[in-house]
Amino acid sequence: MNTTPSNILVINCGSSSIKFAVINPTTEQALITGIAERLGETGSQIVWKDSQQKHTIALTTADHDLAMQSILKLLAEQQLIDSLAAIGHRVVHGGEEFTHSTLINEKVKKAIADCQPLAPLHNPANLLGITITEKYFEKMPQVAVFDTAFHQTMPAQAYLYAIPYRFYKEKSVRRYGFHGTSYRYVTTAACQQLGIDQQHSQLLCAHLGNGCSAAAISNGQAIDTTMGLTPLEGLVMGTRSGNLDPNLFSFLAAEYGYSLDDISHILNKESGLLGISELSNDMRTLEEAANQGNQQAQLAIAVFCYQLAKTLGGLATALTKIDGLVFTGGIGENSSYVRQQVIKQLAILGFKLDEQANLQNGNEQGVITQPNSTCALVVKTNEELMIARDTASLINQTTATGND
Ligand code: ADP
Repeated sequence: MNTTPSNILVINCGSSSIKFAVINPTTEQALITGIAERLGETGSQIVWKDSQQKHTIALTTADHDLAMQSILKLLAEQQLIDSLAAIGHRVVHGGEEFTHSTLINEKVKKAIADCQPLAPLHNPANLLGITITEKYFEKMPQVAVFDTAFHQTMPAQAYLYAIPYRFYKEKSVRRYGFHGTSYRYVTTAACQQLGIDQQHSQLLCAHLGNGCSAAAISNGQAIDTTMGLTPLEGLVMGTRSGNLDPNLFSFLAAEYGYSLDDISHILNKESGLLGISELSNDMRTLEEAANQGNQQAQLAIAVFCYQLAKTLGGLATALTKIDGLVFTGGIGENSSYVRQQVIKQLAILGFKLDEQANLQNGNEQGVITQPNSTCALVVKTNEELMIARDTASLINQTTATGND
């Protein structure tokens, strides 16, 4: 048996949760996955899964540090601790500084902290995850994998806002884009599925989870995307509004007396599918309600699908052709209804749905359009695996070059 530690611990630390996975980078299998959730509240718990089944560990009230201690205890019980070679962290915002994943050192941590004004909800939690794991794995290499990095190849015509240029120069105000780790994974997977060379590929991708975005990807590189300075811009999402008239801020302030924080909260947490349906941010719940005749649920789904199709049509202009339109994320992978509506709306771009394949590929991967159609396909994303791949590759490079 090979006892050299080689597994990667993947950590995605949020404001009230820590998602974790241990991945074998050779087989690309997840040996354990889990989430410590409701941190800082009563009822915090760890829900974890091995290859067999789901388990729950009650933590009563745990903060991030206590939760991490419990995760490490669990990994020790599962005899995984000694198998770890490195830790890969999801970091949401890397600003313009980070165009690739990177080994973490003091300079990198400072740069992540410097990006906090751009992602005040995410980067502090990501950084906390790094400092806590450093405490428990003093000597282990740690790698940061940024959601924004993939989109750094966008040209200025795609990322600049048409506002006074000094805001870009002075405060780096621009479109950054998110979900980059997912886009990188599905780009490679889609090209493999379609049997095309990634270096000569033209893809439209829609990552549709609780947060939703779309991107135009040319020859494996992002050339445009819908999310902006923050993840609020672009598509209709679970609770985020996506695009709207920026004058809405002054209108709502004048009419309701709301503060900037109030309006930001409304647009980030009370809008999107939840806002229109007044029922739920969850597409599955809305589809069930819509099927039972709930008109606001029907309306929320209709707005979601139309705006998505319209945006994909716009993004197509960035490409020279369309080798594939990729649907991914919880909604993209599982909602045959959303895919059907979007493909129908995109008939102008030559899309013709294969109804049967669309239904069959509900929980699978594969092409969902007819042979004489512009191609659309479902690809199951795997951000944790992408983080593990980057981490393994960076530590192998370091070992090979002797750098640290
Ligand atoms: P996150 O962005 O938090 O990772 P996911 O990628 O898991 O979220 O996506 C969550 C979304 O996927 C929810 O809106 C959920 O309702 C939707 N979803 C999951 N399964 C289905 C399904 N079978 N039909 C429709 N929507 C689904």
